[in-house]
Amino acid sequence: MIDLTRDQLSEIEGYAKAAYPGECCGLLIGTTEGEDSIAITRIVPSRNLAAETRRDRFEIDPQVQFDTMRELRGGGERIVGHYHSHPDHPAHPSDTDAEMAYEPGLIWIITEVTNGAVTETAAFQALQSGGFKTLTINLGP
Ligand SMILES: [Zn+2]
Repeated sequence: MIDLTRDQLSEIEGYAKAAYPGECCGLLIGTTEGEDSIAITRIVPSRNLAAETRRDRFEIDPQVQFDTMRELRGGGERIVGHYHSHPDHPAHPSDTDAEMAYEPGLIWIITEVTNGAVTETAAFQALQSGGFKTLTINLGP
């Protein structure tokens, strides 16, 4: 279960739409209560470093990651995962995503954009054994 507010969802979907036909990406900041209860507290967008070379890849700017980790140090929030968009592809982890899923427990939010319109946003969690499990998004106020 992942807690997401409607504002956060529309923020992610707004970036996904704006980046179309490219992919957007960014970090998910949140708090965890046990392994299965994660609340997103905010979204940190990044430019997509892979955008110039490939439309079906994303790479979060390491500087954004570094700055965010430094800012969060000592607080209750942490980087719990990231989001990216799938232009004209289903809101489900691709083979490339599976290859990149090196960190078990990390949350992956994927927004599908078809013909420039957002069609679906789904959440997944990378598993220790490889692959992903689907997470239920608990959409808050
Ligand atoms: Zn992907």
